[in-house]
Order: sequence, then C-alpha cells, then structure tokens
Amino acid sequence: MAVPKKKTSKSRRNMRRAHHALIAESHAECPKCGELKRPHHICSACGYYDGREVVKTAAA
Ligand SMILES: [Zn+2]
Repeated sequence: MAVPKKKTSKSRRNMRRAHHALIAESHAECPKCGELKRPHHICSACGYYDGREVVKTAAA
C-alpha cells in the first residue's frame, strides 16, 4: 500500500482545502407566480416552464 513519506503540513493541508468552499445555489423568480425557482427548471409551485403548464399542480 502506498504510504505518505512526510506528514502533510497545516499549510499544505489548508492550501488543498482552499478549493473546498461551497457555492450558493442560484435561483430566479418564476414569471408566473413569483415564487423562487431554479433557473432552467420547471417551477415547483405552479408547474409552469417557458409560459406554459408542464406539470399539473393542485394549486392550478
Ligand atoms: Zn411558478
């Protein structure tokens, strides 16, 4: 089994983790109902996408 020859320093470890930050999920307002939705996805509140109803919902 491959074993590290030297202990990873705090500096090296933190440099590796410099790319581990989480990015905020983007969201956009639904033009139909104004609810926040994910871009390029069907609105989970009203079931609309690109101006037409794609999925039937209880509210509609
Ligand atoms: Zn909507």
